Amino acid sequence: MSISENLAAILARIDAARKAAIAPAPQTKLVAVSKTMDAGAVRDALAAGQRIFGENRVQEAQGKFPALKADHPDLELHLIGPLQTNKVKEAVALFDVIQTLDRARLADALAAERDKSGKSPRLFVQVNTGEEPQKAGVMPGEATALVTYARERRLPVEGLMCIPPVEDDAAPHFAFLAKLARENGLDQLSMGMSGDFEMAVRFGATHVRVGSAIFGERPKI
Ligand SMILES: *Cc1c(COP(=O)(O)O)cnc(C)c1O
Repeated sequence: MSISENLAAILARIDAARKAAIAPAPQTKLVAVSKTMDAGAVRDALAAGQRIFGENRVQEAQGKFPALKADHPDLELHLIGPLQTNKVKEAVALFDVIQTLDRARLADALAAERDKSGKSPRLFVQVNTGEEPQKAGVMPGEATALVTYARERRLPVEGLMCIPPVEDDAAPHFAFLAKLARENGLDQLSMGMSGDFEMAVRFGATHVRVGSAIFGERPKI
């Protein structure tokens, strides 16, 4: 299967999941996760009409996306991996959306960079719904305080994002994230990957992040 065929198949599955869902989000956008893939693979996806991409490392994205964005001004790039404060300047310059705000110090750094550069990517707060010690994301009990903290700094928080533990049923994690978003007056929900995006659609995902089902398996590092 080619990248364009895979994309068409995923979009059809999102559409079918939306039709079967009782209360889908008004819109569900596909974030094509291109981490580890070369610029040629991204260009194939662009040729097929895909415009939203996700990368998990600032440095890798810096190597691929400036040229792609120059050719496609409507390309929208999302950071979906952890962001170190010493990479904030580069991240703010390159990404349209940062999905991984997970601590007050990072909110401070993003606000400082906004004040300096005038650039302020849209933000999602990443919630560690499984409370896994090794995983990024704010603990569920601290998520509302972080959303408030970011809003007080006039940062554009639009939604929540989660990566459920691999061994868990994702459904309760998606349901929890949707509830937490409602409680915080946030209408964007980034959840669901290649293995579970249809379930995420059922729980109201506005963004699903799909990599391997579009681009093929990533080399194991
Ligand atoms: C890699 C990655 C994805 C995509 O995973 P697939 O299983 O390949 O679809 C989604 N979200 C995040 C945060 C990722 O790091």
